[in-house]
Amino acid sequence: MYKFDPRVIKVGISGCLMGQKVRFDGGHKRSNFCTDELAKFVEFVPVCPEMAIGLGTPRPSIRLIGGEGGVIAQTAKGQDVTEALRDYGRHMAAQFEGLSGYVLCAKSPSCGMERVRVYHESGKGNEKEGVGLYAAEIMQALPLLPCEEDGRLNDPILRENFVTRLYTLHDWQCLLHRGMTPSRLIAFHSRYKYLLMAHHRDGYQELGRLVADLSSDPEQRAQEYISRLMQTLTRRASRKGHTNVLQHLQGYFKRQLNARQRQELAGTIHQYREGILPLLAPITLLRHYLEEYPNDYLRQQVYLNPHPEALRLRYGI
Ligand code: SF4
Repeated sequence: MYKFDPRVIKVGISGCLMGQKVRFDGGHKRSNFCTDELAKFVEFVPVCPEMAIGLGTPRPSIRLIGGEGGVIAQTAKGQDVTEALRDYGRHMAAQFEGLSGYVLCAKSPSCGMERVRVYHESGKGNEKEGVGLYAAEIMQALPLLPCEEDGRLNDPILRENFVTRLYTLHDWQCLLHRGMTPSRLIAFHSRYKYLLMAHHRDGYQELGRLVADLSSDPEQRAQEYISRLMQTLTRRASRKGHTNVLQHLQGYFKRQLNARQRQELAGTIHQYREGILPLLAPITLLRHYLEEYPNDYLRQQVYLNPHPEALRLRYGI
């Protein structure tokens, strides 16, 4: 059982992405971002479902085959491993309550999150429309869990989005660990204001309405809240959304900054909006002014520090 521990962020990962030689051909698919960068901040839990169901390595490769009775997984030697993979997925999902994210291996009939090749049972043709059978069970049983594929993590926007979501879920799990109360939920929402606004302004307002009425069944409301919050963060934050938030944050300093500083900040935000500077540039300037002119409300905003700076996730977006 992978229990929650507030001191450690636990993230599931396909074993081959950690460099384990567990692929059907005895190889691996090491993800440099995961092993060299993210691993400094999270504890990975590597799992290879095909090894776990006893297929060993090297082994005949597996295919998803679609027909009238649904999708099955079959080895090149004709062994049906559908139920074994599904059962193992359900079994592991029950162990994973302490995970805050999952990195899955793309295209795999066991671990792929989307667009996995499904072959026609007639033997003619295939379509990229499947989900790996193990991954499907994990995602269904743990709908809050941020999941992402290794290939998509090469995209700077998707990478930043995934890491933001996993830190957010961990933050929420810490809150549950301390004990949920209506006032703590309101404080949590308050800290996420600008992050949510950058992702989806309407989503932020909807969540605000949810926390405004916690009089009946606060536990149920909290469940609804985190479910909608995680969905909202799944939407990519656009340059326009970030610019809007940056301009809001700029407003907090209008009295303290002199004309030159105001111009510098506005210019940096403008250059970010035009794609000349990365998001890190205006954020760094805002954080600098926050140091000079402390503001408790702004200081607690997750938007300014959603994940460790050393991951350099805001350099490329
Ligand atoms: S993709 Fe999944 S099943 Fe395939 S080798 Fe990697 S961990 Fe194992």
